[in-house]
Amino acid sequence: MALAFDEYGRPFIILREQEQKTRAKGLEAQKANIMAAKSVARILRTSLGPKGMDKMLQSGDGDVTISNDGATILEQMEVENQIGKLMVELSRSQDYEIGDGTTGVVVTAGALLEQAEILLERGIHPIRVAEGYEQAARIAVDHLSKISHSFEFSSTNIQPLVQTCMTTLSSKIVNRCKALLAEIAVKAVLAVADLERKDVNLDLIKVEGKVGGKLEDTELVYGIVVDKDMSHPQMPKRIEDAKIAILTCPFEPPKPKTKHKIDIDSTEKFEALREAEKKYFDEMVQKCKDVGATLVICQWGFDDEANHLLMHRGLPAVRWVGGVELELIAIATGGRIVPRFQELTPEKLGRAGIVREKSFGTTKDRMLYIEQCANSRAVTIFIRGASKMMVEETKRSIHDALCVARNLIRDNSIVYGGGSAEIACSIAVEAAADRIPGVEQYAVRAFADALDGVPMALAENSGLQPIDTLTAVKAQQIKEKNPHLGIDCNDVKTNDMKEQNVFETLIGKKQQILLATQVVKMILKIDDVITPSQYS
Ligand code: ADP
Repeated sequence: MALAFDEYGRPFIILREQEQKTRAKGLEAQKANIMAAKSVARILRTSLGPKGMDKMLQSGDGDVTISNDGATILEQMEVENQIGKLMVELSRSQDYEIGDGTTGVVVTAGALLEQAEILLERGIHPIRVAEGYEQAARIAVDHLSKISHSFEFSSTNIQPLVQTCMTTLSSKIVNRCKALLAEIAVKAVLAVADLERKDVNLDLIKVEGKVGGKLEDTELVYGIVVDKDMSHPQMPKRIEDAKIAILTCPFEPPKPKTKHKIDIDSTEKFEALREAEKKYFDEMVQKCKDVGATLVICQWGFDDEANHLLMHRGLPAVRWVGGVELELIAIATGGRIVPRFQELTPEKLGRAGIVREKSFGTTKDRMLYIEQCANSRAVTIFIRGASKMMVEETKRSIHDALCVARNLIRDNSIVYGGGSAEIACSIAVEAAADRIPGVEQYAVRAFADALDGVPMALAENSGLQPIDTLTAVKAQQIKEKNPHLGIDCNDVKTNDMKEQNVFETLIGKKQQILLATQVVKMILKIDDVITPSQYS
């Protein structure tokens, strides 16, 4: 509130924005928050699993994305509600840490919240629910380690790795080509992996896409593919044993800038200036040739005259190459990026066995392939597809597959998928609940019920009766003491996920449960929501 005076000196009171804020407190606040988070989770629920649906999202400027990836869907959904945004953040953290399981984590959090709501309505304090959930999550994660298996593979036997990547890809739009894409992803990861140190630097894998051709034409290039062509059509299309100068400085004569003043009042002077410019550039070209470069790759452009001169002097060049690409080219070819022309020396040149320009279809599209590089530890996955949407979705799916392969190289423990791990944990948590005294016991039971959310969603999305299917599988798991039984989404006639070869990484699954629990606890602990009234 503030006191002010009008033009006649009469006092009046101004109500500050604070007065107009709305406020939700206690149970009302918790319920509203749970509702908001649940509605985000409900959207993703139908996308889970091999038979999950895809979402089509249109952005403000008319760009359309079709995706099955939880993180991507949420990223593009423009969630307004702050609690909804927490779910977006949740999916993003799973994507950042693990790269896969982004839908599953949100579905799990949604199920946990649904169960929490029931408990709150029964009068259990949110803190007791949060604490019960924390205990239950610990039990579930311990049980996951117990039912996990170690996964054997080597650089000569990559088939098991390919199988795992296929599980990830089977729920994506690209599942038609999952075998090919999985193999490409695994080979790419192994090319850049350090198996002894169990380390994989995914930055060395460049994923490039070009619209056109078929998904089957997607290839792994041991080298770098750049979406550029030689600057002049008459330059050679193939250079063997290339020595590459990588320049981030301008590669053209100095241009008179507006702040300089040059007086040119005769043709002779103009001719002299032109001559000087040409000579300057000629010297630059000569310098490149002197250090032994057979190809120049520049970050900046040069004009047509310079281009012509380069062609005449027989020095092929590529212009307008992006910074990230330049860096990758430098890593792959063992060259150094040269930021000042004077610093160009023979040792700074990168080396590649073959640099070739490849054209596609009947279009004028051309790409530059830099292969047989001095340092072969940088590779490119070059994706083809019928439309931009397809290429983009393939990029995202390949990213998931790369992450799965990387996770397995870092830690080769796996659990079986198809909801089997969740059902096994649910049984273990339910059993542990009996031993827990106090009100937390209810929360632990509720956690066990929430874990059933994933298998139920998988069953529902595959057109099965969710409750019937779940209870049947659960009973069978208990009877046969087999934690590998899950939901037979693809109607293979066996629900043993070990036989179906459906598995996920242990760290990915653990992370899903831990992250979901964390977010749910955070939401439960909010009991006062103050918002400006226009948003309420
Ligand atoms: P996320 O983004 O969480 O990875 P997905 O849509 O990829 O979501 O679905 C993953 C879920 O689908 C996992 O629980 C996985 O175990 C399950 N799944 C994948 N393939 C199969 C299959 N062939 N049969 C049964 N379940 C499967």
